[in-house]
Parts: sequence; structure tokens; C-alpha cells
Amino acid sequence: MPEGHTIHRLARRLHESLGGRPVVASSPQGRFEAGAAVIDRCTLQRTEAWGKYLFCDFGTGELLHVHLGLIGKFRTREFPPEEPTGAVRLRLVGEDTTWDLSGPTRCELVPPDEQDRIVGRLGPDPLRRDADPSAARAGLARTDRPIGATLLDQSIVAGIGNVYRAELLFVCGIHPARPSSSITDDEFEAIWGETVRLMRIGERSGRITTTDPEEIGRPRSRMRREDRLYVYHREHCRRCGTTLRTDRIGGRPITHCPSCQPARRRRSTRSR
Ligand SMILES: [Zn+2]
Repeated sequence: MPEGHTIHRLARRLHESLGGRPVVASSPQGRFEAGAAVIDRCTLQRTEAWGKYLFCDFGTGELLHVHLGLIGKFRTREFPPEEPTGAVRLRLVGEDTTWDLSGPTRCELVPPDEQDRIVGRLGPDPLRRDADPSAARAGLARTDRPIGATLLDQSIVAGIGNVYRAELLFVCGIHPARPSSSITDDEFEAIWGETVRLMRIGERSGRITTTDPEEIGRPRSRMRREDRLYVYHREHCRRCGTTLRTDRIGGRPITHCPSCQPARRRRSTRSR
């Protein structure tokens, strides 16, 4: 599933390529025909991401709400556009760009108060400038659920998915089974700070890289695929070589390093 950095990047690129000018909207697949007709020839005024939710304002009084879900893709296509391939729910064509949305969980026009309702259910989004981490801090403090589960809980922090949660806990040296309520203020600061830092890197580059360029010995842009992550989908820790463990936490498997992420808290939790 796309994580928050993908949606923020999408919001930015949609606005850069289509913003401020009328957009030709259609639903080649037909399932969003009525909605596409409403925004067709309207000007994209604003795009906004909150966690994994995308909102586009075409000045019609309603907002286009997109949630990609597990398999959804919103991609640029050749310009001028050719006949769409596959089931394209929504096609947006600007002056020099074509965007095709396929397979989303949600693609709908919603009134502004529905956006408020959706966003109201979400915790702070580390990629938003207006994010208030204290709400996430409080959310963790009041539950004994494992930190590996609560980091996936969108009502506590919005935008973190399976890859970032595993990598963030590694980078912060925290065992994923630790009760969230046992996370100290220093540890929370480290988690939040690393989330902002690493997701910004992901937003800029379009892919998740959590490893330190100095540790890998080459810049992020030239890293091999297998060097970009410390633990996710790996057998051995990228830092220390220890055989990794995988547990099911928060309903999904999470891989962690028994050596770099001890079950008991260390004096210093920062890995560097
Ligand atoms: Zn390790």
C-alpha cells in the first residue's frame, strides 16, 4: 500500500503539472463518469494530502477525494494521451500532462464537511507543516498496544505504512513489541523526528530510502535497491548482519533486528 510520502508527492506533482489551468476530466472505465463530468473543464486550484488521503479542489464546491488503497495507482501517461489501457477510473489531461487513476479504493466527490470528517479521524501527519506531534504523543501514552501496531494506526499518526514502521523502529533502536505507553519522551522525539526526516526524503525521491549514505558509502541516488533499507524484506540486518526476526504485530508482519532493537530499553535509544 502506498504510504504517506507517495500521496504527498502525488499532491505536489498533480498541482505542479495541472494546477491553475482547466483540466479535461473523463472516466474511460465509466465508473466515475458523473463525477468526472462535474470537474471537466474546471481549474485545479489546490491539492492536499493528509496521511494516505488525497483531496483536489477544482472550485466546484465539492472536493475530489482519492484513496489509493492497496493496488490503486495515479500515474502520468504520454501526452497527448493515447487510448487508455486497463481500467482507468479517472483521466485528467492538462496542457502537457496526462494522469490516469486506476484501482483506487475511493474516488469520489465529497463536500468540504466530509473532508473535515475524514481528516478528523486521523492523527497528525508528519509531512504536514501544521502537524501537532503532541496529539500522537498522547495517543501512544494511553495504550499498551505494541508500538509496532500503533505506528500503523492512522488515528494516532497518519501516513506511516508497513515499510516505514519497520524502518523507523529500527533507526530508533526500538523493539516493535514494546508497549506504546513505555515509549519515553526522548524516544518519541526520535520517532517523530526520524519520521519527518525519512518521509521527506521519500517524498522528494519517490522511493523509500532509510539507510545513511555514509554508512552505505554512496549517495542515496546511487544506492543499490538492497542497500536502501535496514530491515524491511531482508534476512540479515543491513547494519550488523544479525539474522532478523519477523513477528506479526498490528495484523501484519514486521521484521526487526534482535541486536539493534533489544526488547529492553537501552540507555541511549538513538542509533546515531
Ligand atoms: Zn542489527
